[in-house]
Amino acid sequence: MKMGPTKIFLTDLQWQSMESHVRARFPREACGVLAGECSRVHWVAPVTNVDESLNRFRMDPQEQLDVMLRIENEGVSLLGIYHSHPRGPDNLSESDIQEAAYLETAHLVWSPDVEKWSCRAFLIEYGTVREIPIHITGQETQSS
Ligand SMILES: [Zn+2]
Repeated sequence: MKMGPTKIFLTDLQWQSMESHVRARFPREACGVLAGECSRVHWVAPVTNVDESLNRFRMDPQEQLDVMLRIENEGVSLLGIYHSHPRGPDNLSESDIQEAAYLETAHLVWSPDVEKWSCRAFLIEYGTVREIPIHITGQETQSS
């Protein structure tokens, strides 16, 4: 069985773009996608959360389809799905684990810290959750 990435490499800019997105959507949950190859993120894309509740997310189906087509067209992989927990916790909820649509991918959770937001990444393997490291690099990844 294919598993998700065992670590995530992303750039400062990618980190900042996700952070500003989840911050802008506060107090609602924000969600989006990370695409790339192996463990290295090529791009991140915010996706509209169409769930009106404050503690769940559901991607806008058309935007989700568009982003999956872009991934396929570029020959990259879906590396991760990110979403925010505006009131915490900083890990996956029971419903996140049960409702995860993509299992061969990392699940990133953003939550507000004292002054900034933090992000943790997890894999869901056979119903159990394992944290994986996120490495932030200073350089923009070249995409072909
Ligand atoms: Zn969640």
